[in-house]
Amino acid sequence: MKTNISLADLCERQLLERFAALVDDDRSNTAQLLAYIAEIDERKLWAKHACPSMFAFCMQRFHMSESMTSKRIWAARTARRFPVILSMVTGGELHLSGINQLGKHLTEDNHRSILQRAKHKSSREIDLLVAELAPRPDVPSRVRALPRSMGAVVCADARPTSPREARSPDEPCSPRSCSSNVEAGEHVPDVFKPMAAGKQIVPLAPRRFKIEITVDQSTHDRLRALQDLLKHRFRNADPALIVSRAIELLLDETLKKKAAVTEQVRFSSPPSAKRIRTIPAAIRREVWKRDLGRCTFVDEQGRRCRATSCIEYHHEIPYGKGGCHEVENIALRCRAHNQYQADLDFGRDFMRSKRRTR
Ligand SMILES: [Zn+2]
Repeated sequence: MKTNISLADLCERQLLERFAALVDDDRSNTAQLLAYIAEIDERKLWAKHACPSMFAFCMQRFHMSESMTSKRIWAARTARRFPVILSMVTGGELHLSGINQLGKHLTEDNHRSILQRAKHKSSREIDLLVAELAPRPDVPSRVRALPRSMGAVVCADARPTSPREARSPDEPCSPRSCSSNVEAGEHVPDVFKPMAAGKQIVPLAPRRFKIEITVDQSTHDRLRALQDLLKHRFRNADPALIVSRAIELLLDETLKKKAAVTEQVRFSSPPSAKRIRTIPAAIRREVWKRDLGRCTFVDEQGRRCRATSCIEYHHEIPYGKGGCHEVENIALRCRAHNQYQADLDFGRDFMRSKRRTR
């Protein structure tokens, strides 16, 4: 409570400065922690403390969480092989997940160039890099019934493991080496299961992706019906081709609604519709094209928001204050930045009550 009160007293600049300092400290501490873990692990000091492994030592003696322990130990072992990783962690150039993703692909010869490419990359971007480093073949399309208890969880990458198998004690394994460890009867920490299960879209190779979905009975039945109907058109009525075509159609339809994108653009002049709430299609289309379907919010340092989802049309002079539907007065904004601007234009309390009413 005390912390909340003191934080609430900080001005925006102080809050952000202290936050930045904490992030720096955290990175520095993480790098040091990895170095210590690697050294203790190397000396096998855990054995003297009645622990069967470094993993057990961290969990039993220091009460670290299972997930963080696994991530840190694996990263520490990788950093011991390639010490440059520690300075990258300190500098915020590489995160723990990234180290885990890249670990088994690094060698004496390639680690500098790969780490350079992984600098400041998100986990998703590093996945693409890994797919390029170690491309995997396409997976065959499959439609199969899942037991009810499994719900939507299907391992995307690791070999399937039952929760019971995965809960045996000790030793972490690399997120990318789960399969070999599973075969050896070794523990697969929980951290890697959500990681695999949550990844319903997995890059396999450059420009090739594996997608796993769980659908209900009616969707399944419609897919089967489509397979029957399209056998003559799509090779073997492969579900991948059907899903691909369905996505294409849905994207076209959504863009037509959202951005008024049509193949045959009518070049009639935009109607004079200043006080009609709906933005005319021609204007939506032009704004979408100009802003490239991406949020246009730019911060004080000149950095543009990267959001391409939940995109809305924002009136520079608010519609509620007389702003009109003209291309120059409208820009794309993600929902968060549209709301942020509305808070500035109309006041936070007013907008909050308005959203509640909605
Ligand atoms: Zn944005």
